[in-house]
Amino acid sequence: MTELLYYSDKYRREIEARVTEVLDGSFKLDRTIFYPEAGGQPGDRGMFGPYEVIDTKKDGNGDVLHIAGKGAELPSAGDVYTLCLDWPHRYFFMKEHSAQHLVSALLFSQHSIGTVAVHQGPEFFTVETDKGEIDEDVLLDVEDKANAAIRKGLRVWQDETDHESAENLHMRRSIKVSGRVKLVHIEDTDVVACGGVHVDSLSEIGEIAYVSSERIRGHVRTYWKCADSALSYRRENAEIVKKLSVLFSSEPEKIADAAERCLSELRDFRHNLSAMSEKLASFIFSSYDQETKGSEAVIFSSELDAACYESVIPEDYHRSVLVADKSGKFLFHGEKAVFESMREAFPGLRGGGRNKRFRGSYQGDMDSFIADVRKILDGNGSIERA
Ligand SMILES: [Zn+2]
Repeated sequence: MTELLYYSDKYRREIEARVTEVLDGSFKLDRTIFYPEAGGQPGDRGMFGPYEVIDTKKDGNGDVLHIAGKGAELPSAGDVYTLCLDWPHRYFFMKEHSAQHLVSALLFSQHSIGTVAVHQGPEFFTVETDKGEIDEDVLLDVEDKANAAIRKGLRVWQDETDHESAENLHMRRSIKVSGRVKLVHIEDTDVVACGGVHVDSLSEIGEIAYVSSERIRGHVRTYWKCADSALSYRRENAEIVKKLSVLFSSEPEKIADAAERCLSELRDFRHNLSAMSEKLASFIFSSYDQETKGSEAVIFSSELDAACYESVIPEDYHRSVLVADKSGKFLFHGEKAVFESMREAFPGLRGGGRNKRFRGSYQGDMDSFIADVRKILDGNGSIERA
């Protein structure tokens, strides 16, 4: 079995190691500082001499596999090289893992909210709670208290105990392992069973930011950022506020009101525009109706959206109508058989409908589309246009 040094020497970034076994796409070493993926914390990556390690996992016996990836070159048994950790990757997840413990601990101790699942990712971590609803103020309170604990620089340490003593601690999270249990303590705050790698002091996390929450499977899942990721999140948000402030010519604290006003104006504008478009459509349609008196179809292209004519053309209108707009959409009023023959004639035509009303779109030149439809309607013995 590999000698595991990632607990006892967790800040160590390099170590000499010897290959003990080479497998398909991975290898084992006599000792390692690489943490294998477990408990939501991703596996470490880095280099072993000239060989890249893209991930670290445990095999079925709990031994550590250094994954080189499919088809990658592998060292030979007996080779000795320096095993070199991708430290920024590992250190970020040490901070994030510790931050997740802190958030779960505070949710529980301050607000009696349990944690049912967690996820640690490169952008954010999530804490899925056992509650169906959580007030936003509660999550902001946890954020404040977490940052206060970080400023205090509370200590974090790991130790090990037998199963019975661990059970007697009545921890907020049930113990998922058998035999001896690894415990992670946060000074004056928390103790849980966990086999991950954590920081020694909360001050290393730097900062925690509450991002958002959503309901999933009846539970509230909360999203958080920490360390540099929290810092860039706050910076990006500040940048967005600055840009919006310029766009709305508004002081930052009044942006929401300005946006609300703007949206309300836009809604009114759209409402008026739609009423005006309908009036205009009605006017245009009746002029074509007059112009084409005597023929069996009314066919024209329109600057207005084809949809504007929907309520303008009477449902029982006795002639066929095709209105096509500049965006490639059209409205057809007429017999289903005619629409079907249009569909056959133009493979790029999409759409459908019923009761003599068909809507669709055509990707291609609308002028020649209209000219060709006219021919089809002529073929049905129906058209001549003024
Ligand atoms: Zn942990």
